[in-house]
Amino acid sequence: KEVILPQDETLSEMIEHSSGSGSGLPLLVQRTIAKQIQLTKSIGKGRYGDVYKAKWRGENVAVKIFLTTEEASWIRETELYQTVLLRHDNILGFIASDIKGTGSWTQLFLISDYHENGSLYDYLTETTLDHHDMLRIAHSIASGLSHLHTEIFGTRGKPAIAHRDIKTKNILVKKDCSCCIADLGLAVKYISETNEVDIAPNTRQGTKRYMPPEVLDESINRFSFDAYKQGDMYSFGLCLWEICKRTIVSGAVDEQTIPYQDLVPSDPSFEDMKDVVCAQKIRPTIPTRWHRDDYMKVMTKLMMECWSANPAARLTSLRVKKTLAKLGEIMEACEKIAKLQSIQP
Ligand code: ADP
Ligand code: MG
Ligand code: MG
Repeated sequence: KEVILPQDETLSEMIEHSSGSGSGLPLLVQRTIAKQIQLTKSIGKGRYGDVYKAKWRGENVAVKIFLTTEEASWIRETELYQTVLLRHDNILGFIASDIKGTGSWTQLFLISDYHENGSLYDYLTETTLDHHDMLRIAHSIASGLSHLHTEIFGTRGKPAIAHRDIKTKNILVKKDCSCCIADLGLAVKYISETNEVDIAPNTRQGTKRYMPPEVLDESINRFSFDAYKQGDMYSFGLCLWEICKRTIVSGAVDEQTIPYQDLVPSDPSFEDMKDVVCAQKIRPTIPTRWHRDDYMKVMTKLMMECWSANPAARLTSLRVKKTLAKLGEIMEACEKIAKLQSIQP
């Protein structure tokens, strides 16, 4: 039976008004969405499915369609987005999940907010950043990560979540240049009541290029939730480096590069990565001009403290978020002073 939706409410209003799960939309409404969607264009080809820009009730949305063989990922990602209190400015806004079709032909949908600028990886290909953009991007990712990592206690609390596949292709850029974290297909939850790590039912691991050394050499303690958060911080350190590489410093900027670009092939094997990251202990190179710029000096220290070989020595997402917030305040204060000096007789 078709569910009648209120005619004059926009999508975002509906989400705001309805209570309930992480999605915000009541399940019955979710169930009818797939039928009402028109795909407009293909915007991303992941390894496990395709992402489309689509129209739903007059608004742009993104639709991720999973391969039927990827049902476990679809279930996992849906379940993660349904987590109570997950909604946050810096986490991709989930709208609904649905199955379309019957029998041998089924499509698994995950519908979310659409972001015109695409992934941070794509954005950095086309755009260079000033210090403002750099800080805004970095701080917003740290905020999203810190929200994921933090457990909220109470009867309707939120579990701590580790992402396990942090990389610039899994971060989206919003209109105002702040970012949100996407692709929760590999995330794990931590249930503090039972002190258990709720491992995703599929055994797949994150992207090899961004894998922390302890995952590569298999020394990670799989039963410790902190270990997964520390793993995220290593990958986030690599993202910080990618962001800084595209930031104009003393009039100069580098071409876009991915971490370990010249050291491993384009689809590196586990062994390739293990050799570079664990055996040779190599990390991305810091351009010398960063040493002469006060903001870049802080950024350099941050990324290095994120990609430390010792997981326990890495910064937490909350620490990084706070440091970047301070740096932003200092930048604003300096600009005000410069403005004042410029109008003095
Ligand atoms: P996969 O699990 O297959 O990697 P992702 O969720 O990471 O799928 O999406 C793949 C790509 O599709 C992203 O890297 C990004 O370029 C694009 N994409 C995904 N979701 C959106 C969205 N909501 N808005 C705009 N582009 C998106
Ligand atoms: Mg992805
Ligand atoms: Mg994925």
